[in-house]
Amino acid sequence: MKQIRLILAYTIGILVFTFVFCGLVQAQNQTKTLKRIVIDPGHGGTDPGANGRYSTEAAVSLSISLKLAEYIHESLPDIEVVLTRTTDVFNSVVEKAKIANAAKGDLFICIHTNSADPSRNRKIIGHTTKTHVIKKNGKKRTVTVQVPLYKVTYTPSTARGTETFIYNVVKSEQRKEMASQALDEIVEKLDSVSERQINELNEADPTRAMMTSLLTQQYFQRAASLALTIEEEFKNSGRISREAKQRQKGIWVLSAVQMPAVLIETGFISNPEDEDYLNSDEGQNQICETITKSLIRYKNSLENQKKSNAN
Ligand SMILES: [Zn+2]
Repeated sequence: MKQIRLILAYTIGILVFTFVFCGLVQAQNQTKTLKRIVIDPGHGGTDPGANGRYSTEAAVSLSISLKLAEYIHESLPDIEVVLTRTTDVFNSVVEKAKIANAAKGDLFICIHTNSADPSRNRKIIGHTTKTHVIKKNGKKRTVTVQVPLYKVTYTPSTARGTETFIYNVVKSEQRKEMASQALDEIVEKLDSVSERQINELNEADPTRAMMTSLLTQQYFQRAASLALTIEEEFKNSGRISREAKQRQKGIWVLSAVQMPAVLIETGFISNPEDEDYLNSDEGQNQICETITKSLIRYKNSLENQKKSNAN
């Protein structure tokens, strides 16, 4: 009987703690919508990324990112912008993730340009003769054969337009670990949770596992909704949209940051028309305007969610 009462008390204890803790985390989430955006200009320094005829992915990405920061300042003055680089320097993806996590961003946006290989074509343009020496029954003999002559040409890929990536769910183990670290920070901020309770929340704690999984889901849902909005806005602006997607092999940095993350391929540097567009003021302005419009929609949707949660 005593044992049953103990188990009952323990179960009630866990339930009460879970309930209080969830309420606290929810309260924390409700005060936090979109305050800090981390922009990550792809590549840089010794890593130029993909090459166009006259420009590199690293340079174009930096130029668009710096402009995007200005657009955000202008249209969303309450939001702080942090850039992982502002000059032509190389940062490893690990450093980029560290910068983003140290800045405690609410959103991570990687800016890149796409590239597609040209297709190789081989055409027979004639024949030539080749002479071989062969040995048969100990005797040497010369044989002449006809071989075709080829001309190899490359046709530039016609791929162009934008696509926005979110992390691959298959690669979500690392993401869970990151969400778990983010959870540590939320817990640290909550004065009302006693030290004993924090200590209780160890790796094996079911509450921790549950909260981690909730955070992972939240990052994923937010990233997916933003990626869809961005591609919809690109379409509205008249660009070719290759849709929001997940890359099969995953994108490491997207799963290494403790916040929702998207990677925008702003156009194909391998396509001459897109390369000109990506390097032009008009093109860069249109790209930044489109992303900013999407961010406003994203921020509004988070705030509406917060309002409906409060009701
Ligand atoms: Zn890239």
